[in-house]
Amino acid sequence: MTRITEKQLILPSLFLMSLSKTKGLSTSELIPKLRDLLNPSGEDLDILKGRNDDKFSQKVRNLKAHNTFERFGFAEYKSGIVHLATKGEIYLQENMDKLRYLLVNDFQWNDLKEGLGTIQKSSEEKRKIEVFDETIMIQEGVKKLVETKIYERSSKLRKIAIEHYTKNDDILCDACKFSFNNFYGKQTGKGYIEIHHIKPIFKYQDEELDKTIDTALKNVVPLCSNCHRMIHRDWRNPLQVNYLIEQINQNGIFNRMN
Ligand SMILES: [Zn+2]
Ligand SMILES: [Zn+2]
Repeated sequence: MTRITEKQLILPSLFLMSLSKTKGLSTSELIPKLRDLLNPSGEDLDILKGRNDDKFSQKVRNLKAHNTFERFGFAEYKSGIVHLATKGEIYLQENMDKLRYLLVNDFQWNDLKEGLGTIQKSSEEKRKIEVFDETIMIQEGVKKLVETKIYERSSKLRKIAIEHYTKNDDILCDACKFSFNNFYGKQTGKGYIEIHHIKPIFKYQDEELDKTIDTALKNVVPLCSNCHRMIHRDWRNPLQVNYLIEQINQNGIFNRMN
């Protein structure tokens, strides 16, 4: 897997600057804050030869050494402190929903990096992207917390995913085969399921929703609430669905419920 790039660090860094009282941070403040926010893993944590520093820290340091923020006009270094610029503030506001989506859905490190790259690339290409939001699907009742447009988009994906995965008038948990319909009875359980995003799902604004949904369907999976919670149990390390299935089959006392 590839290492995080400086460009992928821009948006989360601007976000952290915006949270600081002075809208500015030193590199030594930025490194642990970014680490906390993004929870890097794998090769990015490799220690540099002969130095008491890992590759992730080095990338953050390079933001300054390579004038990365300045090149985009997003932020400026003054006496060792990087300050959010107006252009950076606008860029952050435009992409806040996407950043939030990546951060709250506990994606794997590689998917998170890729997502940050997609956002970055879309702004360079001046092609706007939109997100679907998994948390909306879980908390469907809490409509007012999210932007209406994201809500509509995400519930459309949810509806299509449910239709796609419904077989013989029932939809089963992909991991344990639990059926809300059977367990609780039709009246209470029919049609209930949670939709897990395996990878972040983005849509270019100028693309048809229907076209994107085909791709989106490949990245979602229906899960019962227990399996979904197990997958997100450790937010720093969400499980792969296949790993959970293996665990159920090999280590679970009960066999799969099919
Ligand atoms: Zn399940
Ligand atoms: Zn999920």
